[in-house]
Amino acid sequence: MRTLLTLAAATVALLSFSAPAQAAPPTIDPRPTNEVLGATLKTLARQSHGRIAVRSIGATNEGRPVWAARVGHGPVRIQYVTQQHGDEPLGTPAAVEFLRTVGLPTTGWHRWLLSRVTVDVIVRANPDGHVRDWRYNFDPDAVPEFGEQGKGYDINRYHNPTLAPDDNPATEAGHIQRAYTEFRPDIVIDYHMQGRYRDEQGREITASVLWPTNTGVSPALVDDAKRVTVVAQQSIDRLAGGNVSQYPGGDYEGIARNAYGLRGSASVLLELSAIDDEQSQIRAAYVAMLAVVQTAADGSLDRVDPARADAIPPRGDPARGITD
Ligand SMILES: [Zn+2]
Repeated sequence: MRTLLTLAAATVALLSFSAPAQAAPPTIDPRPTNEVLGATLKTLARQSHGRIAVRSIGATNEGRPVWAARVGHGPVRIQYVTQQHGDEPLGTPAAVEFLRTVGLPTTGWHRWLLSRVTVDVIVRANPDGHVRDWRYNFDPDAVPEFGEQGKGYDINRYHNPTLAPDDNPATEAGHIQRAYTEFRPDIVIDYHMQGRYRDEQGREITASVLWPTNTGVSPALVDDAKRVTVVAQQSIDRLAGGNVSQYPGGDYEGIARNAYGLRGSASVLLELSAIDDEQSQIRAAYVAMLAVVQTAADGSLDRVDPARADAIPPRGDPARGITD
């Protein structure tokens, strides 16, 4: 419990300085255009006086940059990826607010945090899919094993550790592979979105989480991923009013959650549900981003019992009477 209390205090402190007391929380654009996103990241880089470094990790098939932003210079390396699926947008605005929160102010807490962690964020991995509000990248002439002919590839099925980036048919997956290899993160969290579900008590599931399930991932790394999973779950449940379940994910090695576990990271999937209150979902993703960096920086992450991840309830059935 001490871990959680520390986490709660730190996160509440974080959340409270970004806006004056009594002010209504700002409304975050849930779907900034690619142009607005790029301009916002560049503004953050400028406002941070170099603490946030923004770069393109490569171009999409239509020539759009895939943006990444790095903040911090500490030994624990954490990579966040958002919006591999173009129609699952809300991790992206959460990542922007995360960068703003950790990268702009210069309090003692910020200097401490950035001396403990380095965070690399791939912000909207699939800008071509975002434009079309669809899952896939844009490659209409492809005949993909995973994807849809006439549209493109499912980027999140092409992270296989044995697949060389230069041979990767899913362009943006190759970019992510290269960024991963260059950064060698200890922790990876991949932000997605799912439909709507209810738990056995009838309460809506607001997010689902899962660690690597491919049997080739070392048990120690699975435990590390479970620790990250628990921090994400508890931060959303306790600090963002959520109801997090286990995601029923598969074992395929091309899924980022499995692939980056096989490659040596504590790799976690986080799926936000497509509930009506998008602002609360952006806040939930943001809180999880902050909680993981805080607990990684102060070492409390290492003391989390991984068995607590196994106790996260299963996701349950699609919510009756709710359309996705
Ligand atoms: Zn997805």
